[in-house]
Amino acid sequence: MKPSHVEHIGIAVKNLDASIRFYEEILGLQCYNIEEVKDQKVRTAFLQVGDTKIELLESTDPDGPIGKFVEKKGEGVHHVAFAVENIKEELAHAKQKGIRLIDHQPRKGAEGLDIAFLHPKSTHGTLIELCEDKTKINSH
Ligand code: ZN
Repeated sequence: MKPSHVEHIGIAVKNLDASIRFYEEILGLQCYNIEEVKDQKVRTAFLQVGDTKIELLESTDPDGPIGKFVEKKGEGVHHVAFAVENIKEELAHAKQKGIRLIDHQPRKGAEGLDIAFLHPKSTHGTLIELCEDKTKINSH
């Protein structure tokens, strides 16, 4: 696997609007998109910093993955997402090497990216997301 960059860092928060205000007013970043991903029961806000985005995640349902995470661990870093060129191939490689996958097939994430998660039990504790931006790669 050879990711080109950290695509985004996912951060679980209790209150999206208050969190956006912090990142905008204190860190000086700008929120350029807010999107609800029904599938994952979250509202997400994106802020760009260099090649990387900060993805703030607010749960829309206490039983969703972010709702459960916040209840168990509180607010904080939830996952790190790496940009890869061929997500299907990388998933197959990871599986071959005995890495536990959460998603065996890529699915649609926020911003139209193809995404898949590796299980933190196989990654030394961090939930790792792989993502492939088809529009970017095809335009090279
Ligand atoms: Zn993510």
